[in-house]
Amino acid sequence: MEAIESADMPIAPSPLRSPGLARVVLKPRKALPFYGRHPWVLDSAIDRVERVGPESGDESLDGQVVDLINDKNKFVARGLFNSQSRIHVRLYTWRVDEALDEAFFRRQLESAIALRRQIGYEPSSASEGRGDCATRLVFSEADQTSGLIVDRYGDYLVVQPTALGIAQRLEPIVGILQDLLQPRGIVLKLDPATVAMEGMETDPTATKQLSFADGHVWGELPAGPIQIREHGVVYELELRGGQKTGFYLDQRENRLAASKYMRGRRVLDMFCYTGGFGLSAATLGGASEVLGIDGSKKAIAQAARNAELNGLQNVRFEIGDAFKALDRLLEAGGKYDAVVLDPPKMARGRGGANAALMAYHRLNRAAVMLLERGGILITCSCTGGVSREDFLLMLSGVAQKSGRDIRVIEQRGAAPDHPISATCLETEYLKCMICEIR
Ligand code: SAH
Repeated sequence: MEAIESADMPIAPSPLRSPGLARVVLKPRKALPFYGRHPWVLDSAIDRVERVGPESGDESLDGQVVDLINDKNKFVARGLFNSQSRIHVRLYTWRVDEALDEAFFRRQLESAIALRRQIGYEPSSASEGRGDCATRLVFSEADQTSGLIVDRYGDYLVVQPTALGIAQRLEPIVGILQDLLQPRGIVLKLDPATVAMEGMETDPTATKQLSFADGHVWGELPAGPIQIREHGVVYELELRGGQKTGFYLDQRENRLAASKYMRGRRVLDMFCYTGGFGLSAATLGGASEVLGIDGSKKAIAQAARNAELNGLQNVRFEIGDAFKALDRLLEAGGKYDAVVLDPPKMARGRGGANAALMAYHRLNRAAVMLLERGGILITCSCTGGVSREDFLLMLSGVAQKSGRDIRVIEQRGAAPDHPISATCLETEYLKCMICEIR
């Protein structure tokens, strides 16, 4: 149990300098969060960057290993530098004697995968039938691998780097994954917004990460889509083409939990993507009929195909803007026995929380008004800047304005393959409330 041992260790006495590593020196009184092992060092906390060695010259430090030092010249932690990102240093170890080398990342990946085995999401061996399972194997800060996401879809892995330092280390990381998991293929997913924020494409001196474009494959990929199975429900997905890494894995247990309330109900699944909640409601839950709505034409086509694959006839899907569709349904006097609201992230960072809450209010109020008395509302928020408490207060505002009683029956979060790091609470982002509406 190496992790526990290291957590118990006193903060390492500082060597004055780790040979060869540049030093990022904090401003006075800025070190506390990092002694608390929060992994993000923002520009505003940094006093200066000290390079080492005469030969280092003007070479960019972006992506390189640096030591974080407090204003009293003491070692705090070690991480990867990126001057182009809002997060100037991502921290990975607080042990002065631990190098951020290939062996380090191997240990991190091994322990992330071991946790998924513990949860029961990841088969222990290839022969144990991993053919159609879907799991988040590595979840960035939640696995002390800031900037690295790895998902399993059957025999294939999708790797998504969200930090320059990780993108530059893709080759060794992919090698470790191949060694530990023997997937048939590994495909690279790059989110364009993240690429821009991290300067993954604009740094002319760091060309290494650019030799792999979005969709790059190590090993082999099937010619067409693949099928995964979640709680027995079949979904088809494109390893290269889908949103995120292809499927919203974080809602796995919530789709099952929600389906338990769906028997005999007419269900409206808003922001349905490829059908997740709606198909679970129909197959597992015994819903009488389902209407799914999403703004993405591609997602809706896939949702319809997924309904077919599961042999469902009481499910239909429509392309549409959720806000407009809700207004239209209200005008038409539509009534439902269950409504699912699973909108995309409404704001980045803390800044947009108020605007996000207003949007949530609007959506939830419309949903409540569409529900019969005794109806079920499944309402979700994946906006990190909106806390659980904020979200509950939003629901209380909706109850007040609509004159309806809202009772939260289940307060849920992300599936256990998206753990919450107690030292990086930004890893708690998903709220899913199952409510009864009177
Ligand atoms: N519930 C889904 C995941 C939803 S993700 C599941 O279980 O798989 C959020 C979805 O909202 C995405 O599919 C996206 O295409 C859709 N979306 C984003 N903005 C929208 C809008 N204004 N109207 C309708 N759909 C929208």
